[in-house]
Amino acid sequence: MDKTIPNFDKKIVMSGIRPTGFLHLGNYFGAIRNYVKMQDEYECYFMVADLHSLTTHPDTKELKQNVYRVIAENIACGLDPEKAAFYCQSHVRETAELYLYLNMLAYMGELEKTVTFKDKARQNPENINAGLLTYPVLQAADIILHRASYVPVGKDQEQHLEMARTFAIRFNYRYGNVFPEPHAFNYNAALVKVPSLDNTGKMSKSENQAATLYLADDDDTIRKKIKKALTDGGPKEKNSVMPDYIENIFLLMELVSPQEKIEKYKNDFNDGTIRYGDFKEDLGNDMVNFIAPIRQKATDLLNDEKRIKEIMEIGAAKANKSANETMRIVRDAMGMNY
Ligand code: ADP
Repeated sequence: MDKTIPNFDKKIVMSGIRPTGFLHLGNYFGAIRNYVKMQDEYECYFMVADLHSLTTHPDTKELKQNVYRVIAENIACGLDPEKAAFYCQSHVRETAELYLYLNMLAYMGELEKTVTFKDKARQNPENINAGLLTYPVLQAADIILHRASYVPVGKDQEQHLEMARTFAIRFNYRYGNVFPEPHAFNYNAALVKVPSLDNTGKMSKSENQAATLYLADDDDTIRKKIKKALTDGGPKEKNSVMPDYIENIFLLMELVSPQEKIEKYKNDFNDGTIRYGDFKEDLGNDMVNFIAPIRQKATDLLNDEKRIKEIMEIGAAKANKSANETMRIVRDAMGMNY
């Protein structure tokens, strides 16, 4: 078989999380939960996206600590470095080479139109750097470097995935069929968006921290944050339309509580008898039961720097093997092999 024609039957998985702060419930249900399931079924590459974090967080004083934290929290959630390749983005230098090639295939107009670029440029007008503009190109490089087809991400990443697909198709059109088309992946058909507790957007690592539940939050903080979640005096009549902020707290309950409890509160809502105080107390307890063991495991691992370094080394070896192989094919396809 011609060595430039890859075997697209084998589905490869790739995704990443930026080390820009503490991981939260959105990262868990939008991404990590799928990682943990997929590692048993596919060849998986998961990375800590430290290069991406530099686009918005140029100060690197806390970077190492944040990288370690993201590693520890992913492992605490069930990611297994023996099953998946779990590595740090900057440990795979080929990423930078592929990013450079893809930049020649990415057009200014399409990059400027990206919603996340426009948002970030608005939020931080002092630092609209070229890395921010080409963020989706770097992300595409990360994904196709392993010739991945499935990318487990939350709903906020949908447009970036569409762009990764565009760049892969453009490369194939120009230089030959090297890359499969990458697609956003979630086990349930719809991509997940875990809303913030104040109904102003999504839970996030670096924004709106009081309305985000972190995997490192202590029990008291979790209960307090949930108590403050936006609710109202309750429905005025039977079978009222549910406001979106109430839908949001139900969504959180669906993530961590047993089905009977959710049904009970839904019935109470429809009967017009729901008491949000009780609802929040119940949700608070279930959330504590969900988060506390993850927090404990992550704390233990964070105290074991040797093990974290070992995990990064095992991951980098696997990721570099795959990256070297892809780049050999890429250079051949492009004629950059003299
Ligand atoms: P953040 O936006 O918190 O900085 P990242 O950009 O590092 O997170 O994203 C890491 C992963 O977590 C991505 O797959 C992203 O889609 C997912 N994710 C982030 N926030 C949420 C959320 N609130 N709901 C669902 N998924 C999310």
